[in-house]
Amino acid sequence: MHSSTYLTLDGDVRQMRQADIDALSGRISGGLLGRGDKGYDDARKVWNATVDHRPALIARCMSDADVQAAVRFAGEQRMRLSVRGGGHHIAGNAVVEGGLTIDFSGWRTVAVDAARRTARVAPGALLADFDREAQAHGLATPLGINSTTGVAGLTLGGGFGWLSGKHGLSCDNLLSAEVVTADGEILRASAEEHADLFWALRGGGGNFGVVTAFEFRTHPVGDAVMAGPTFWPIEQTPEVMRFFREFITAAPRAVNGFFALMTVPPVDLFPPELHLRKVAAIMWCVVGSEEEASRYLAPVHDVGTPLLHGVGAVPHAALQSLFDGLYTPGLQCYWRADFVNEITDEAIEKHLEWGQKLPTMHSTMHMYAINGAAHDVGPADTAFSYRDANFAEVIFGVDPDPANADTLRDWCIGYYDDTHEYSAGGAYVNFMMEEGQERVRATYRGNYDRLARIKAQYDPNNVFRINQNIQPAKAAG
Ligand SMILES: Cc1cc2nc3c(=O)[nH]c(=O)nc-3n(C[C@H](O)[C@H](O)[C@H](O)COP(=O)(O)OP(=O)(O)OC[C@H]3O[C@@H](n4cnc5c(N)ncnc54)[C@H](O)[C@@H]3O)c2cc1C
Repeated sequence: MHSSTYLTLDGDVRQMRQADIDALSGRISGGLLGRGDKGYDDARKVWNATVDHRPALIARCMSDADVQAAVRFAGEQRMRLSVRGGGHHIAGNAVVEGGLTIDFSGWRTVAVDAARRTARVAPGALLADFDREAQAHGLATPLGINSTTGVAGLTLGGGFGWLSGKHGLSCDNLLSAEVVTADGEILRASAEEHADLFWALRGGGGNFGVVTAFEFRTHPVGDAVMAGPTFWPIEQTPEVMRFFREFITAAPRAVNGFFALMTVPPVDLFPPELHLRKVAAIMWCVVGSEEEASRYLAPVHDVGTPLLHGVGAVPHAALQSLFDGLYTPGLQCYWRADFVNEITDEAIEKHLEWGQKLPTMHSTMHMYAINGAAHDVGPADTAFSYRDANFAEVIFGVDPDPANADTLRDWCIGYYDDTHEYSAGGAYVNFMMEEGQERVRATYRGNYDRLARIKAQYDPNNVFRINQNIQPAKAAG
C-alpha cells in the first residue's frame, strides 16, 4: 500500500501517515487500494470515460463494519469521501479526486423472498443482479433500462424504468434501507423507523449516509413482457411526438414507452436498410399478453408511416439488457436533462431540428414518461419533487472516440439551450452533471428546505458532499 497525499474537505493537501493507512487496511475486508497498487486503475473507472478521478484510497467494502471503518477514517482525517454503487452516474461522483472512495463493486448479492415478494439488495448490485434473481421467481421491481446500472445510485435518486407506469418509481418500492451515517452509526430507515431519513433517501441521493442494504417490494411480471420499438423517419418527429404526448399520459398503466430521437444501430436485430438511419422512435413495454399489447398499441399504426414495429414477447430481465451492447461502460458522455410538463408544438420543432443533427451513432434524446403509479405519490411524499411532471428528458451526447468529446458537448449544450425554456425547471438528479447549487435547488424545489434540515441532523458537516449536494441547514439563531 502506497502512502500518499490526500485532499481534505476544505481542499487542503495533506500527507497520510502510513500507520493510519495500515490500520484502515486491516479493517476493510475487501482490501484497500492506493495509487500505484494493482487493480487501482480499474477500480477508479466509472461508466463515463471522460471522468478521470484519482482517489487517494479505494476501500473495497464488503460489510457494514468495513463501511463504518471507512466513514470514521474519512471523518477523522477530514478527507473527501465518495461512494460508488454501480459507477454509472454521468457526473462521475462515485470516485473522488484525492479522497477516499467506498467501492461496493465486490458486494452485489441479491436475495429474493418470493413468498413475501421482497428482495434484499447489497449496495454494489447492478440491475442485472437484481433482475436475474427476481426473474427466477417471475418477479421484478421498476429499475432503469440498462442492466449495468447500479441499483443503489438509481434508487437513491428516484429511479424509473419499464415498470414505473404500473408500479411507480424505484424509490416508491423501497421498503427499508440500512444506513451508515456520517458518525459511523448504523440505522434502519423505513416508514416506521427514522421516517424522516427514509423520506430523504427516496430521491435525495447519497446525501444522508452510506446505504449498505436496500429492501424492495417486487411484483409479478411472469415469464415475459411485450416489448420492442416502433421507428419512423426522423422527419415525422412532429407527428410522433404529438401522438406520444397524448397517448402515453392517458395509457393504461400496463403500457410504458419512452420517445427517442436516435440512429438505428447496425445490428442483426434490425433490417440492414434501416442501419445508421436517423429515426424518431418509441420503445415500448407492455406488461400483458400479446393480445393485450396488440390492442393497447393499435393506435400506433395510424401515426405517420412506421418503418418498423417490432414488439414481441421477451423476459423482463432480457429487456433490461437490450441496450447493454450499445451503451457499454467506457464511452465518452456529455448529458443535459430537464423535467417537462407539456411537450409544446414549438418545442417539438426544436427537437426535430436537433434530432436531425445527432452528432454520433450513440447520441440520442430520450423522453421518459412519468405517469400512472409514479403520479399516485405526491411531490412532498418523498424527496423526489417532480411528481407532477409528465416527462423526464435527457439529451445524451455519447461516442467511443475521445476526439469527439467537443462535438458531443457542443451538440448537447446547443440542444439544451434551445429547449430548456419549454421545461418544468429542474432535472432528474440521476441525469445531471456538475451543474451547480441552483440547479440542485431547482430540482428539489419545495422539498429542498426539508432535505437541508434532515441533512443537518444526519450529516451536519456535509461529509457526504461528493454528489448532487444538499447543504445542511444552518441552525436557527
Ligand atoms: C446508460 C445509462 C442509462 C440509464 N438509464 C436510466 C433509467 O432508465 N432510469 C433511471 O432512473 N436512471 C437511469 N440512468 C441514470 C442512473 O440512475 C444513474 O446513473 C445512477 O446514479 C446510477 O447509479 P449507480 O449506483 O450505478 O451510480 P454511482 O455513480 O455509483 O452512484 C451515483 C451516486 O449515488 C450515490 N450512491 C451510490 N451508491 C450509494 C450507497 N450505497 N449509499 C449512498 N449513496 C450512494 C453517490 O452519491 C454516488 O455519487 C442511466 C444511466 C446511464 C449511464
